[in-house]
Amino acid sequence: MRIDLHTHSSRSDGTDTPDELIGQASAAGLDVIALTDHDTTVGWDEAREAADRAGLEFVPGIEISTWHEGRSVHLLGYGFDPEHAPLRDELARVRDGRDDRLPRMIAQLNALGLEVTIEDVHRHSPDAAVTGRPHVADALVEAGYVADRGEAFAEYLAEGRPGYADRYAADLRRAIALVTEAGGRSVLAHPWSRGSEDVLTTETISALRSLGLTGLEVDHPDHGPRERATLRALAEDLDLVITGSSDYHGTGKIDHPLGANTTDPEQFERLLGSLRA
Ligand code: AMP
Ligand code: ZN
Ligand code: FE
Ligand code: FE
Repeated sequence: MRIDLHTHSSRSDGTDTPDELIGQASAAGLDVIALTDHDTTVGWDEAREAADRAGLEFVPGIEISTWHEGRSVHLLGYGFDPEHAPLRDELARVRDGRDDRLPRMIAQLNALGLEVTIEDVHRHSPDAAVTGRPHVADALVEAGYVADRGEAFAEYLAEGRPGYADRYAADLRRAIALVTEAGGRSVLAHPWSRGSEDVLTTETISALRSLGLTGLEVDHPDHGPRERATLRALAEDLDLVITGSSDYHGTGKIDHPLGANTTDPEQFERLLGSLRA
């Protein structure tokens, strides 16, 4: 059984519609797929219907933008009630934070002499419920300033680069508590990618577990062999579920093909068994 628990559609910053994503998952030989768009659940219905037709098991998920001690941390949530008001309201605040950031990023890019507009960015996110830096990257690519999303981040959009602007995101501990309250399970996404190793220490992860954290995404394309081995041992010590996934974004992110990493069926059962029953 091949299980991929972290993917994005064009409802956030992936390039496949939810329907196309399920088609690709089928072609890649997956049996179970979670849709985890950034800060939105709008793709769930379309993906679930497509998965039903294709005979795949669909897991409704999300990747929530959070802050922990000044660092951006992504939290995967699965199987929660999307109508749970406190969680729904917090997600709306996070999406508002994205809308609020966009004009500031555009102004900074304009100040650097890069002629891109909010409309250019929106043209690259026609059916997205959230605007993200990858869409700004697409506008920069189209205007010929950079070759691809990767170069746009490296030059302008990554933290510390001149086009970067801060935004509101949920507090990590609160996001874990909200997913739990809403009947779901939470997993730290790529916990040790891009510097978050400094704030997601063993002690912190242990404390997050007591707030309801269920698992760690150990096998992620951004983790090397050293991170994976250490995180796996840590998850085993703390009795956390171990997941593996691709973080597929369609053509929006190279080296993240569907099924690039998968989750062991036993771990999947530990994570979601009681919710699937
Ligand atoms: P945002 O949602 O605006 O914070 O942007 C985060 C998204 O940008 C995530 O999907 C990341 O995978 C993607 N991303 C972050 N850093 C890079 C990078 N250096 N190159 C390409 N994509 C990136
Ligand atoms: Zn993304
Ligand atoms: Fe992420
Ligand atoms: Fe992701």
